[in-house]
Amino acid sequence: MDPIDLRPHHLIDVVTDFGFDEEPEYEPAPGENGVRALVRLLGRGLDHPARFVVGPDFVCGPCSHLRPDRRCDRILEHHDPPQAMDDYNDPLDRRILAALDLAAGAVMPIREFLEMLDERMPGFESVCTHPGQTQATRREGIINGLCTLGVRRES
Ligand code: SF4
Repeated sequence: MDPIDLRPHHLIDVVTDFGFDEEPEYEPAPGENGVRALVRLLGRGLDHPARFVVGPDFVCGPCSHLRPDRRCDRILEHHDPPQAMDDYNDPLDRRILAALDLAAGAVMPIREFLEMLDERMPGFESVCTHPGQTQATRREGIINGLCTLGVRRES
């Protein structure tokens, strides 16, 4: 299996936000990002290898916001001050990789990454909570997702 590129925070967001019971037949709209494809992939198992990147990934691939120069055109208007998506995402993903002692480009099965995350929970939410989220919400979402995926035994 070839590795898929993943921004680490995209994987953590999917673990936090999805129940892994998405309809397998779900057809994404044209230009929709690859979040649901990632949900489906995780729902089939965690052995798929991923290359953890700081840049556009499996989720960005089909997204209409990804420009031909591989930059994201979204502006996060709700940030104070408003911020280009890449200017928010890139430091966040570097912080997450550093906190896991990983270099950008590290390749491993998705399960291994999630086990590293699990070892640091609770606590890791302080590295990856988004503006507008509380750390408690992020913590609960990550732990619930890890339990649902069978990486963590109890919440
Ligand atoms: S909005 Fe930007 S960062 Fe988000 S999936 Fe689309 S291209 Fe990627």
